[in-house]
Amino acid sequence: MTAVTESRADARLPDGAATSLFVAGEWREAQGSNTFRDLNPATEELLATVSAASAADVDDAVRAARAQLDGEWAAMSGPARGRVLNAIADLIDRDAELLATLEALDVGKPVGQPAMLDVPNAAATFRHFAGWADKITGRSIPTAGYFGRPTHSYTVREPVGVIAAIVPWNTPLMIAAWKLAPALATGNTVVVKPPEDAPLSILHLARLIEEAGVPAGVVSVLPGLGEVTGEALITHDDVDKISFTGSPRVGRHIGVVAAERFRRVTLELGGKSPQIILPDADLEAAVNGTAMGLFFNQGEVCAAGTRVLVHRSLYTQVVDGLAQAAAAQVLGDPLDPATTMGALVNARQRDSVLGYIEAGKRDGASVAAGGAARDGAGYFVQPTIFADATNDMTIAREEIFGPVGTVIAYDDVDDAIRMANDSAYGLAASIWTRDVAYAHSLAGQVRAGAVWVNGWAAIDPALPWGGMKTSGIGRELGWSGIEANTEEKVVTVVL
Ligand code: NAD
Repeated sequence: MTAVTESRADARLPDGAATSLFVAGEWREAQGSNTFRDLNPATEELLATVSAASAADVDDAVRAARAQLDGEWAAMSGPARGRVLNAIADLIDRDAELLATLEALDVGKPVGQPAMLDVPNAAATFRHFAGWADKITGRSIPTAGYFGRPTHSYTVREPVGVIAAIVPWNTPLMIAAWKLAPALATGNTVVVKPPEDAPLSILHLARLIEEAGVPAGVVSVLPGLGEVTGEALITHDDVDKISFTGSPRVGRHIGVVAAERFRRVTLELGGKSPQIILPDADLEAAVNGTAMGLFFNQGEVCAAGTRVLVHRSLYTQVVDGLAQAAAAQVLGDPLDPATTMGALVNARQRDSVLGYIEAGKRDGASVAAGGAARDGAGYFVQPTIFADATNDMTIAREEIFGPVGTVIAYDDVDDAIRMANDSAYGLAASIWTRDVAYAHSLAGQVRAGAVWVNGWAAIDPALPWGGMKTSGIGRELGWSGIEANTEEKVVTVVL
């Protein structure tokens, strides 16, 4: 960890942005006074110097979270928890512009995108789970009785306990909301570890959680490095569940840590999602939607539809359409409303994406658009389309997490489905067709946690979210989010 002494910060950082720890209801510096540098990806300049939580801070946060499971929070009724969650949603709406600005500056994404998606989705997620907070019911289950005596059996859903929420940098506010809202609705307490590349929106969310009246210690937010703060949190003896969103590499480690401790875990990992364009598709809608699935958020989206599987009859038209969509992207300052694509989050991510572009060229795919970094400051990469690709190329197999699409031709739909499923991942898929009945049957054949017909990323807090295979284990959101955050207990009375 680098201790930072310089105080220079990006002039555009809103005054008073939170950069310290929120532990047990208090804002404070890290024990040991460690900090880390949070850069502005569009300028490569220092955006903020942020406190980096130590193992001692993690311990304070987990203890406070544990205490509230027997404290004021545990005594709050479902309707009272619902009111608090609604208050958080209202405060997110109030500060929507500030939150979108923080997200744009920190992640590098065009400000219109968090204003349109991340921020309203976070508010909607708190509202959705506010509605569940007083509806978490059990079941009454008839049985054959107990040694000849009748019984009365029922179930109750209880909070899992202290939840460690580990969040990635691509959509930090939204994913933090996905973890916090269902956990709080069901009476858990949560220690959040924001991503070191983009912690600022979650730190502001912590202020809103405080202002909404969530009792001290129910939620702590501990920025810091993954291998220090994150590791201390996931291995802490008093954590009951780890809710992780991030890379398969770290997810695998977290799975092992959880297994060794019999700890509950949900893993939301990467993807290499197919977008299948059938010969009868509305071509304009398919090209526009597919382009959004490739370029939204600079392609730094777990559900990015990066493998475009196109019927050979449409192949040239789709490649040309996607190349035009790439050329039409406006790369630039994330705070400029004209910008449609921002910078990648850091130099490592830019270099990794450029490495995949080189691999695509080496493997013999042809570059139909882009194919290089953008000159000048900032971690910008040109939106890139590869044509003449096959499903066994590296660019079709590995998650690139940047604005790079791989367009692959197929001759019959069985072949398209086979390629769609020939992947280590199984997070999402899109099918573009006018034959909706056929789309239903194809949706059943694709191994993915979400299938969108004639759309991309039609997400909603009411719908379960999660993947198959390397894309993860478990589901968040909707009723699945309630199940994932509760233990089902059965009570049997022998009558
Ligand atoms: P990452 O795995 O590098 O980091 C994710 C988080 O884990 C960060 O907060 C990091 O600090 C923390 N971390 C790292 N090491 C840790 C450790 N030893 N113990 C505890 N925490 C640790 O991922 P990233 O680069 O931030 O995010 C990109 C990845 O996230 C991509 O693979 C993407 O597909 C995935 N993602 C998945 C979803 C989904 O819903 N399935 C959503 C967004 C992103």
